[in-house]
Amino acid sequence: MVKKKTVQRVRGTYDILPTEQKYWRGVDEVALPYLEKSGFGRIELPIIEDAFLFSRSVGENTDIIEKEMYVFRDRGDDILALRPEGTASVVRAYIENGMHSLPQPVKLYYQGPMFRYERPQSGRYRQHYQIGFEVLGEIDPIVDAEIICLTFRICERLGLKNLTIEINSIGCSNCRPKFTAELVDYISQRKELFCDNCLKRSEKNPLRILDCKEPSCQKALENAPSILDFLCKECHKHFTSVLEYLDELSIPYNLNTKLARGLDYYTKTVFEIWTSQEGAQSSLGGGGRYDNLVALLGGKKTPACGCALGLDRLVLEIKKQNIEVAQENPIQVFIAFLGDKAKIKSLKIINECRKAGIGIIGSLTQKTLKSQLKTADKLAVPITLILGEKEIIDKTVLIRHMEEGAQEVIEVKNIVKELKKRLPKGN
Ligand code: AMP
Repeated sequence: MVKKKTVQRVRGTYDILPTEQKYWRGVDEVALPYLEKSGFGRIELPIIEDAFLFSRSVGENTDIIEKEMYVFRDRGDDILALRPEGTASVVRAYIENGMHSLPQPVKLYYQGPMFRYERPQSGRYRQHYQIGFEVLGEIDPIVDAEIICLTFRICERLGLKNLTIEINSIGCSNCRPKFTAELVDYISQRKELFCDNCLKRSEKNPLRILDCKEPSCQKALENAPSILDFLCKECHKHFTSVLEYLDELSIPYNLNTKLARGLDYYTKTVFEIWTSQEGAQSSLGGGGRYDNLVALLGGKKTPACGCALGLDRLVLEIKKQNIEVAQENPIQVFIAFLGDKAKIKSLKIINECRKAGIGIIGSLTQKTLKSQLKTADKLAVPITLILGEKEIIDKTVLIRHMEEGAQEVIEVKNIVKELKKRLPKGN
């Protein structure tokens, strides 16, 4: 006999089951209103985009484009990509929807899945989720500070401990080439100390050598030139102001001259938010300034700055740090019945209560009252309604307060009104 093969989830993806939802909802409930109240408007972006959007913006010689992007030809012969990140799409939408004619800066946030063909491990998936927020149309360093502050405060509000901002400036097209030339020179004199990847990068994308994860490369970089010594006057002034604002806001930061970020579009400020654990997976989010991207993608020259938080990583960290996540039980009432007439009446009561916004369920296929009451116990509802033959004749219903065990009888026609009196507001 041929054994049937069951279809499994794609490697590097996972299901977020109902029992896990409280963590995800908890993050949403903290982050999204915080962004809305800070003046950010939500933007919903397509998951598929023209692949060129990302190769142009993220950069041809980055890991994301070279190795990780899901690219496919659709039935109309267009070359599309599953978005690996959100900023390029925000910029495309800014240009395409003429947002430069709105009062500037334009503040947008998005949330959703991103796709990268990475080697799956804890905290690194092929489908992961991000919340990103971007400010477009303002060059003032106070915007960088606002973005970093939002990043920090959101994580802090989630209850996460041991947070620091790792920050660096990678300069601009005026000053960066001088630094990268020095860096390439430094590496070419010590080739034997660097991994093959770094040697390749030194030809195509030298800045990325800085954040190579190989410990031996990091050691070999210890005496490498620092980008901060190469910043032009403008970049230096900008970076100093950002740090001053962060001091004013009491945001703890660490000057990390090895932080480069894996995307080509950044200019000046780059940052990540880390928890205290060392290692590759400790970054909960990151971002920076990208003053050339709007123009690069065909818009007017528009400075901008943004951040993306990794939701999967936030949820993992909330669990790791044993942070209590409150979850309200949406089911407040259970209805138990005895007999066929009571079963039909229960169905009607459920319908009436749901129309009135009350969270109610019954287990209408269970036969015995005992098994139904067991279900009510498991659900931990504060109220159970009991409808037996006597109640059907009397046109009443029994209300049992589960915690105290007290019972009362009410007229069935007043059910919604009586329940509302006894339930917390919002039901
Ligand atoms: P990036 O767009 O690379 O700057 O990523 C922003 C944030 O998204 C990171 O700091 C991570 O928290 C998260 N992230 C990026 N790639 C992955 C991935 N493959 N799996 C899970 N989270 C990720």
